[in-house]
Amino acid sequence: MRALLSVSDKSGLVPFATGLAQKGYELVSTGGTAKVLRDAGLAVKDVSEITGFPEMLDGRVKTLHPVIHGGLLARRDVAEHMEAIKAHDIGTIDLVVVNLYPFRETAAKPKVHPEEVIENIDIGGPSMLRSAAKNFASVWVIVDPTDYAHVLAIVQSDGDDLAFRTLLAEKVYAHTSSYDSAIAQWFAQQRNEPFPDRFPIAFEKQQALRYGENPQQRAAFYVEKPGAGLGALVQKGGKELSFNNLLDLEGALLAIEPFADQPACAIIKHTTPCGVATGIDALSAYKKALACDPVSAFGSVIAFTVPVDVAAAEAISSLFVECIVAPSFSDAAVEILGRKKNLRVLEGRANWPKGGMDYKRVRGGLLVQDRAPAPMAPATWNVVTKRQPTTDEMVDLHFAWKSVASVKSNAIVLVHDGATIGIGAGQMSRVDASFLAVHKATSVGHVTEGAALGSDAFFPFRDGIDQAAAAGVKAIVQPGGSVRDAEVIAAADEHGIAMVFTGERLFRH
Ligand code: 5GP
Repeated sequence: MRALLSVSDKSGLVPFATGLAQKGYELVSTGGTAKVLRDAGLAVKDVSEITGFPEMLDGRVKTLHPVIHGGLLARRDVAEHMEAIKAHDIGTIDLVVVNLYPFRETAAKPKVHPEEVIENIDIGGPSMLRSAAKNFASVWVIVDPTDYAHVLAIVQSDGDDLAFRTLLAEKVYAHTSSYDSAIAQWFAQQRNEPFPDRFPIAFEKQQALRYGENPQQRAAFYVEKPGAGLGALVQKGGKELSFNNLLDLEGALLAIEPFADQPACAIIKHTTPCGVATGIDALSAYKKALACDPVSAFGSVIAFTVPVDVAAAEAISSLFVECIVAPSFSDAAVEILGRKKNLRVLEGRANWPKGGMDYKRVRGGLLVQDRAPAPMAPATWNVVTKRQPTTDEMVDLHFAWKSVASVKSNAIVLVHDGATIGIGAGQMSRVDASFLAVHKATSVGHVTEGAALGSDAFFPFRDGIDQAAAAGVKAIVQPGGSVRDAEVIAAADEHGIAMVFTGERLFRH
């Protein structure tokens, strides 16, 4: 029996190779790998010894040779194959251990020279992996060091497991395709092309999910790379995350993102906030966010920009909550929240991949866009009404603009004192969104007199403004850009409302 080992990641290599040698495997290896094995006292043949060719071109050509690929690819059950390799003095290779040059890691290094990245495109490694995997009926192929133990156990017991060998082959093709995707992506980045002809990103499975949006749908969670995005959150308690939890967690983290520099809290239901607030600490932000719509907060996902302490944990404990996410939790807070067996506690910040894109699945395809930048600050806004916003109104308008960004369109928020007091989300008309924001605020006893209003897109008619004015709204922030802007501005002037145009739309669908 013959094993060929050629690995960049040498972790776990020596114990595995030792086990193979003890079972009588002849070990064949490339330069660096052979050295590690010899240093560990194992007998190793160099690949050059069996190919009759030296490693050349700075390692670009090491194993690309018929002696290697013949030994991997020959079908053991086809007489002609076995005769052919015998005629050319090619011995079979029964087990292959290869992992690839660290392309992704090299490309991700700051200020790396393109030449170094290119040298880290592995050629011989994927070739051997693909040859061995094609012949999985007879050849073991191991690309992932965490599989060493299982394979060794089978070898040591003189056993066989074709199903596992088949799985290892599947792993190889998944691995090499994702490896090549990363290379294609790097090439696209080199020419500043975010939208290449073929969309190259391969996603990796982060976890299996019990089911999808509904129990009758199967589901799993994939990430751009291990630990990316929501994959960076560490679960500290509660049941396993569900499909809908992950959707809501994304919404929650998006909602607090514009408030990262202060204590803030967002309460999310069905991906859209039912309360966003800032405060002097986690507890006060939570109380203000909850007051926006305490009925809808039942069964919500809650996000904080600041650590959760005992006071906030105790307050949250009296509500039925699906998930809570915060940069950190005090031990006592984890203990308090842990008493609620169904509450998932998640620690960390979302690690959105740098330069990453937003993807929206449409049946049969994928929409890809830049991630939405942070909502623009007041310095770039234009006051379009006769009345200028007061300083206090300006503070609330800024809050309204930052909070409306995470509300599903058509979105209207009413804001007072650093908190949403009414949210109209996901409406098919803007006047309905205004109506709902006012209705929701007044239905829980909020005073809308003097509130600020944020609208994620322009008002197409004056009706939304009239409705806001009837509720006592005194200041409005919206993108502007409607053909009826003049009519809308005139309405605001009639009502003595101060209105600003941001020139930027904040749809979220
Ligand atoms: P070593 O550290 O043993 O010198 O090199 C191991 C690495 O070389 C592995 O990552 C393997 O995938 C890669 N490799 C093996 N054969 C070839 C080859 O012919 N060309 C290139 N470019 N890489 C190879």
